[in-house]
Parts: sequence; structure tokens; C-alpha cells
Amino acid sequence: MQCPKCYSKMETVSHSGRSVERCSLCHGLWFHGDDLAQLRRDKWMAEHVFDTGDVETGKMYDRIRGIHCPFCEEDMRQGFDDEQPHVMFESCPQGHGTFLDAGEFTDLVHKTFWDRFKLIR
Ligand SMILES: [Zn+2]
Ligand SMILES: [Zn+2]
Repeated sequence: MQCPKCYSKMETVSHSGRSVERCSLCHGLWFHGDDLAQLRRDKWMAEHVFDTGDVETGKMYDRIRGIHCPFCEEDMRQGFDDEQPHVMFESCPQGHGTFLDAGEFTDLVHKTFWDRFKLIR
């Protein structure tokens, strides 16, 4: 599979029975279908396995807009996270998946973790 952002080759990374694609150059992550929603909540330490890219590189690639879904070629829809509006990402309107730049998955997961911590207390 090809990275929708920089067109480099993506590699499959698996953790706890789920897999994402990670770009070999920009280290952006592709989450299939709604795997992002599952992984950010259910998979402990998933960000350490998947999100190994450099945050600064991720920020650089975050400026690239107007990307296309690698599966259906449709324009990816830009959105932001409900809980963390500063995290922008692109999703396929047909539901093929979501692309996150390096560091963004870690950002999402950690907010969720601390939110949970606050609820427990
Ligand atoms: Zn890439
Ligand atoms: Zn698509």
C-alpha cells in the first residue's frame, strides 16, 4: 500500500490482533475502517508499537492537505477529533480508513488516558 501523503511504501504493523499501515518515509499511520476508534481505547500501549515516527516530521506533513484515499481515490475528508480539536486528520468518505501523521495517534491516546484518570478520581 502507498502512503496517501508522500506516496512512499507503507508497512503493516500488527499489535493485539489488529494491524495498521505505517509509512516508511513520513511515518504517518493508516487505520483501516474504524480501527482508530477501537485502538485508541482498547489497546494498551498501542501508540508505542505503531506511532514510532518523529513528531516534528509529523507536524511538517500535517500541513499537506487534499490527499486521496489509496483504496478508492476519493478526496479524503478533513476532520478533527471531538475530544482533542487540535488534532487534524483525514478520513475516507467511503469509510476505508483514517490517516494520522506521526505523533498524532500518541497525542489522541494520551488525552483519552488522562481523561479516564480524571473520571476515576
Ligand atoms: Zn508517507
Ligand atoms: Zn476510500
